[in-house]
Amino acid sequence: MSRHHEQPDRKQRARTAASDADVLARLREIVGAENVLVDGERVEPYAQDAVKEKFPPEAVLLPASAAEVSAILKLANERRFPVTARGGGVGYTGGAVPVEGGVVVGTDRMNRIREINADDLYVVTEPGVTTYALQQAVEPRGLFYPPDPASYKNSFVGGNIAENAGGIRSAKYGVTKHYVLGLEVVLPTGEIVRAGGRTTKNVVGFDLTGLLCGSEGMLGIITEATLKLLPLPEATRTVRATFRTMREACACVPAFNRAKVVPVAVEVLDRNSIEAVETEFAFGFGAEAGALLLVSVDGHAEDVERDSKIVERVVKDGGGFDVVRSRSREEEEKLWDVRRALSPAIKKFGTMKFNEDVVVPRSRVPELVERVVRVGERYDTFVVNFGHAGDGNIHVNFMCDRDDPAAMKRAREAVREVFAVAIDLGGTISGEHGIGYVKAPYLSMALDAPTVEMMKRIKRALDPNGILNPGKMFT
Ligand SMILES: Cc1cc2nc3c(=O)[nH]c(=O)nc-3n(C[C@H](O)[C@H](O)[C@H](O)COP(=O)(O)OP(=O)(O)OC[C@H]3O[C@@H](n4cnc5c(N)ncnc54)[C@H](O)[C@@H]3O)c2cc1C
Repeated sequence: MSRHHEQPDRKQRARTAASDADVLARLREIVGAENVLVDGERVEPYAQDAVKEKFPPEAVLLPASAAEVSAILKLANERRFPVTARGGGVGYTGGAVPVEGGVVVGTDRMNRIREINADDLYVVTEPGVTTYALQQAVEPRGLFYPPDPASYKNSFVGGNIAENAGGIRSAKYGVTKHYVLGLEVVLPTGEIVRAGGRTTKNVVGFDLTGLLCGSEGMLGIITEATLKLLPLPEATRTVRATFRTMREACACVPAFNRAKVVPVAVEVLDRNSIEAVETEFAFGFGAEAGALLLVSVDGHAEDVERDSKIVERVVKDGGGFDVVRSRSREEEEKLWDVRRALSPAIKKFGTMKFNEDVVVPRSRVPELVERVVRVGERYDTFVVNFGHAGDGNIHVNFMCDRDDPAAMKRAREAVREVFAVAIDLGGTISGEHGIGYVKAPYLSMALDAPTVEMMKRIKRALDPNGILNPGKMFT
């Protein structure tokens, strides 16, 4: 299923200096011949990300160190060919695909966790470790790495930092940038720099880690990251409730905070989402269920017991019915099944999904959803809304048939209008998926000209030859 907006599928490889025999020979010297892939079949997996549009690289390079990445970038500047960094390749905005050709630098071989420090609460890792592997490595030591994009089994730490990934736990724990203490980065011109360090506090010089988080592989290639850890919470509990309307369900979000509870996750599903999971998996939700809320709390066992009861009371007071509170880890897993079932279930509504991730201040979510429904009606396009009500980040999915050009056009127009609605409500066009090439045509809706110009100046200062990930964000 493709979700792209305004660019054609590119089946042919672009031709740049990266394909010259002498350049390929030097690349083989840098990373070893076995780590330079040029054969069509071996290059194919690196031609697309979750957008599912193909931009085949001229070569895929699999370096094992910052020194090798540095040598690649120096050569790229000398011979002027594009370089695009790649993590797990599950980005939603085409960030990791080489739209202007050149080489893809895969971080697959840079997959070692170098140090886990339980006393100072940090982990030092290479960029090619998956988010899941990192979480699994620290948990047995009683440690916790909170960022958890739903793609965590496939996404890499480097890709998470470059996209500043969020996830279900963001309501309480924030996003990836809140956990980045230090970075080793190879600049587009090949110098190796170190930003930040290993301490929670560090105000020496500009906040370069802040700049690099969310820089979408355009300002440097991350070769090592020092990430903050927390003690692993002792217990978690989840409350699930249905409501007649999305407005009622979302109104609970500020009510939790007024009741002095900060949930880890507050996920909301609209009527169409419920219908999708119901037809596919028969959870048993009644016809009067117009919205569903999943709320988790974590902490010490006795606090979690108390907080989950407060959550139960708040949702009941807010009009929730069929309220269930988990009493064990197994029960909790079962309550979350509905959320896990959702993405595959909504495929029944169309072969094409325009999956947007607009974000608004939390209290504006009900208004956002109501206006999105009206946009869907106006453009005669089926829409499914669900997502992270706890942080205002809603996944708006316009569904249509990819073989119906008129329906595709209407859906694209609906997307543009939803972006305008999100901005009008004090929010913006992406909460976690980034810009890449997919959302580049909409950047100026969200940022004014001087702000875009400042970003372009930073890019030009660090990458004067436009080597690293060209064709993204500013096209
Ligand atoms: C099913 C599914 C669920 C998802 N759920 C979430 C979610 O809950 N929250 C969320 O935030 N996102 C989500 N995403 C989006 C995506 O998974 C995240 O953006 C993730 O961080 C991408 O990681 P990746 O390793 O796959 O990066 P890639 O797709 O490989 O690359 C993404 C960008 O990072 C750059 N990059 C990669 N590695 C490096 C590096 N070492 N140095 C510099 N730049 C680099 C690339 O050039 C590119 O611009 C989801 C995607 C899918 C398919």
